Amino acid sequence: MKSPRTREADYLVIGCGVAGLRAAIELAGAGKVLVLSKAELTESATQYAQGGIAAALSDEDEIALHYQDTLQAGDSLCHQAAVKILVEEGPARIQELIEWGAAFDRNGTKLAFTREGAHSRSRILHAHGDSTGREITRALFARARASSIEFLPYMFTTELLLENGVVVGARLLDERQKTISEIRARALLLATGGLGQVYSETTNPSLATGDGVAIAYRAGAVLRDIEFVQFHPTALYCQGAPRFLLSEALRGEGACLRNVDLERFMPRYHEAADLAPRDVVSRALMMELLKTGAEFVYLDLTGLDPEHVRARFPRIYATCQEHNLDITADLLPVRPAAHYAMGGIATDLDGRTTLAGLFAAGEVACNGVHGANRLASNSLLEGLVYGARAGRAMAPSQAPAKVSGREEKNKVGKSSSRVAANPGPSGSNDPLPADGARRVAQIREVMWQKVGIIRSAESLQAALDILARLAPPLPSSPGRTQYEQSNLHIVAEVIARCALAREESRGAHYRSDFPCRDDERWGRYSRIALGQPVTFE
Ligand SMILES: Cc1cc2nc3c(=O)[nH]c(=O)nc-3n(C[C@H](O)[C@H](O)[C@H](O)COP(=O)(O)OP(=O)(O)OC[C@H]3O[C@@H](n4cnc5c(N)ncnc54)[C@H](O)[C@@H]3O)c2cc1C
Repeated sequence: MKSPRTREADYLVIGCGVAGLRAAIELAGAGKVLVLSKAELTESATQYAQGGIAAALSDEDEIALHYQDTLQAGDSLCHQAAVKILVEEGPARIQELIEWGAAFDRNGTKLAFTREGAHSRSRILHAHGDSTGREITRALFARARASSIEFLPYMFTTELLLENGVVVGARLLDERQKTISEIRARALLLATGGLGQVYSETTNPSLATGDGVAIAYRAGAVLRDIEFVQFHPTALYCQGAPRFLLSEALRGEGACLRNVDLERFMPRYHEAADLAPRDVVSRALMMELLKTGAEFVYLDLTGLDPEHVRARFPRIYATCQEHNLDITADLLPVRPAAHYAMGGIATDLDGRTTLAGLFAAGEVACNGVHGANRLASNSLLEGLVYGARAGRAMAPSQAPAKVSGREEKNKVGKSSSRVAANPGPSGSNDPLPADGARRVAQIREVMWQKVGIIRSAESLQAALDILARLAPPLPSSPGRTQYEQSNLHIVAEVIARCALAREESRGAHYRSDFPCRDDERWGRYSRIALGQPVTFE
């Protein structure tokens, strides 16, 4: 590796999924904007989003209903002001996206809406059937490329640069040039997406290694509600294949779940049956797996019109065919998989984190909009709405947020310019990469078995004990993989610690030893920061 090279920008956006792109578009014109990704520019979770994007735009819908549905799914932990902004500003953000060229599916000239779990109306817009994220990505890139925004792919952000407690830039690993460089900026946005790869079973792409959460945590930022991880009930279960998501929109169009005895079991668990909230469906599914001893249940679309299914879900149809499954005729083996992080870097309603100069938006951030359980198809909307708001707030950069209602003190970087170094894994004896890979496989399995859909004090403490022994080694000149492994370990530990501290069940966080919701004690957000205990506010 050559020595660090420094570049300057006015605004640095890390991540080019829906949140980063939307923020960058907002910033274009306010100064020099650099947007980074750690892989190909278009590779992101956004790109894989199938089902759609929710907004109260149909004639039969109302913003108040979308608001209520979001709060209901969030299980009394949503930040109501954040939800209000989401549902009120969402329609305008989508109209704008349509003006920029996003082609959502239509019935004749009218937008076509579908239904998903826990929505009281059909309000999900979709594109090319089940390629909504791809279309949104295309439209946002087209808009962004028409401005002077500069894009840099394969620039892996390793750390934040801090001066006197203020984030002034980032340190990067340029994978293609094999160089380390630094970019300094007036304000920096983390829009690095999710952390699903911390679980052995996940729908998330391989880049979802929780880098943003780990980077911000190491720099001293507060994380909020990180114990809330959504498990999607229907990931395709084929031995040896990645857990391809079978969108909830399939059930919205009439598909149903059956156990291996071919019984429709969801009516036994919830009045909304197959369209119950995701956390309810995932737990019901786990109960059925325990009861029947099977490794999967079935998703059944055989009662639907085959022609409609093929036209409506072309991507799912084609992918299942690769596994010799015809979704119009075969029962599809499915089981839950980690899907979405409700928690993340604590922000205010404009993306300000607890560190001056640092903003966050999209799945990496937590402003409380999803509460304990995200309503289906609200996250692309969140990326648009809160990406735009963060972009607006970054120019000009302002003071750090008081996200807890209390004054936050930066615990690190008080004086000189410094890199927020990795405090955990260490060692200069360049261990074999295989050791890191082995440990990460163990971390992911421990998280799935002990910090997954059903948790208890016993399983969580056991996970923490094991995790303490599994810190992946970080060689003296780490590459992207080693950084990602280290980040996954940090993310695993904070999730397990916060899950242990929350002694109740709420939304996606289910504790078998505390099976009820307890608003009086735990109707609050969790928070964790480097070197501090978990607290609730
Ligand atoms: C299979 C699947 C289907 C889904 N379907 C839907 C749906 O139908 N509707 C819905 O609302 N939501 C859906 N979701 C969730 C939704 O897609 C994501 O929550 C959302 O797209 C996240 O957007 P984002 O901008 O926050 O991050 P992402 O889209 O994940 O983008 C992250 C960006 O950050 C970059 N990055 C990450 N780490 C680094 C680093 N260290 N250095 C530099 N760059 C970095 C990446 O390269 C990438 O550009 C789905 C998710 C999955 C996985």
